[in-house]
Amino acid sequence: MSSASLSSTFSSGISLPSPSRTRYPPTRRPILFPVSSLTTDRPLRAAVVGGGPAGSSAAEALAAGGVETFLIERSPSGSKPCGGAIPLCMLSEFSLPSSLVDRRVSRMRLLSPSNLVADFSRHLRPGDHIPMLRREVLDSFLRGRAESRGAVLLPGLVTGLTLPASPDEPYLIRYISSPSGISSTLAVDVVVGADGANSRVARSISAGSYSTAIAFQERIRLPPAAMAAYSDLAEMYVGGDVSPDFYGWVFPKCDHVAVGTGTVAAKREIKRLQSGIRSRAGPKIAGGEVIRVEAHPIPEHPRPRRVVGRAALVGDAAGYVTRCSGEGIYFAAKSGRMCGEAIVRVWKEGGKVTEEGLKREYLRKWDDEFIVMFRFLDLLQRVFYGSNAGREALVELCGDEYVQRMTFDSYLHKRMVSGDLWKDFGLLWKTMGSLVRATILEKEVEKLRMV
Ligand SMILES: Cc1cc2nc3c(=O)[nH]c(=O)nc-3n(C[C@H](O)[C@H](O)[C@H](O)COP(=O)(O)OP(=O)(O)OC[C@H]3O[C@@H](n4cnc5c(N)ncnc54)[C@H](O)[C@@H]3O)c2cc1C
Repeated sequence: MSSASLSSTFSSGISLPSPSRTRYPPTRRPILFPVSSLTTDRPLRAAVVGGGPAGSSAAEALAAGGVETFLIERSPSGSKPCGGAIPLCMLSEFSLPSSLVDRRVSRMRLLSPSNLVADFSRHLRPGDHIPMLRREVLDSFLRGRAESRGAVLLPGLVTGLTLPASPDEPYLIRYISSPSGISSTLAVDVVVGADGANSRVARSISAGSYSTAIAFQERIRLPPAAMAAYSDLAEMYVGGDVSPDFYGWVFPKCDHVAVGTGTVAAKREIKRLQSGIRSRAGPKIAGGEVIRVEAHPIPEHPRPRRVVGRAALVGDAAGYVTRCSGEGIYFAAKSGRMCGEAIVRVWKEGGKVTEEGLKREYLRKWDDEFIVMFRFLDLLQRVFYGSNAGREALVELCGDEYVQRMTFDSYLHKRMVSGDLWKDFGLLWKTMGSLVRATILEKEVEKLRMV
């Protein structure tokens, strides 16, 4: 679109939300956005699409850095289907008050197809635990904090994005405000796509697709005695009966448990797999009342392109979920913050935001910090989740104190822990032994079945 046609589009009534911190932009206002002043005589203007952990963290960093920031969220009172487990380091790194945490899990069990149990509680360091929270609570806290730093929350559904034809032109975001239903268009210099696994921003900027798993979860209110047993206990079940390529879980929430499973390969069988996790948990969740059923895609890999022009993707929209554990909340918040800070740096250092600057300050730094961890967890998923032999070997290995310490240090504190070379070698040996043993055992069981 040329500057001339843009100017005429603007004068024909594109509205700009009130820069004051009103929650609903009730009126259509004339555009206050001459194309020639995109980055000169006014602050940078950014739209963040999606107000989950990724979007709110991006909006907070942008607003704190002096960027005029609009955070567009279609459903500020909704709740994202999620297990709600976060790593311990997230509490301090994101200054989350402890009042947000429903449960502190210090007993973590991994159960094999033959119900062999690896109990992770035995080797936890003092004070270590997994905080469990409800997403509606976390998300509304993070959105509120972004607002308190100056971001303008626009409740509304983004329906389209028009890309600029030149580096000086704005992105035009079309959205329908809620609850008014008024359609508006917002012109911005920079767009952050934080709109989750079905990202419209990713589609609009041709970021390329990724494969997704489907995660299915039931929230079940248990009788008091059964709930008490889960007060600080989380369980993960592996086995072909609960998922061909992932795991099933029972995670404690404030007054109920979340029971779910996920899969990439057998999406159509998700209900059968959910019955599998329910029957594995069996008597422990008996007598429970299902209070909510939810399902949502989980990305498997980063998208082919995460920065295109002055638009960047963060969180699930970018594909930052670890394959082995399905963990994405921390990576969403972290990528949102890193991206927001990168935009501020690029703008302040160069006077404008460019694709090259975003790739250098956001993508490269993200990849340097996390890509090895993601690839390593990918590898673990492929080795251990594909067969019952692999799953038995995984649970056997997880009984080992060294493995437990390494697993928990890297999960809870988000460090790729450099281990002890001899112990690592011993572990590799043991892994191969466990895999061979479990494979032989599986073949023997198969023979018995044939008899
Ligand atoms: C069943 C399940 C269990 C999970 N359990 C865990 C767990 O225990 N721990 C963990 O770390 N991770 C877990 N995850 C993954 C985790 O939920 C995600 O990785 C995380 O929510 C990503 O955050 P996000 O901000 O990138 O995206 P989301 O949380 O998906 O937020 C995207 C936001 O964008 C909004 N939006 C979308 N489209 C539009 C639009 N067009 N206009 C305006 N707004 C829009 C949505 O309403 C939403 O609020 C689980 C996922 C599932 C499905």
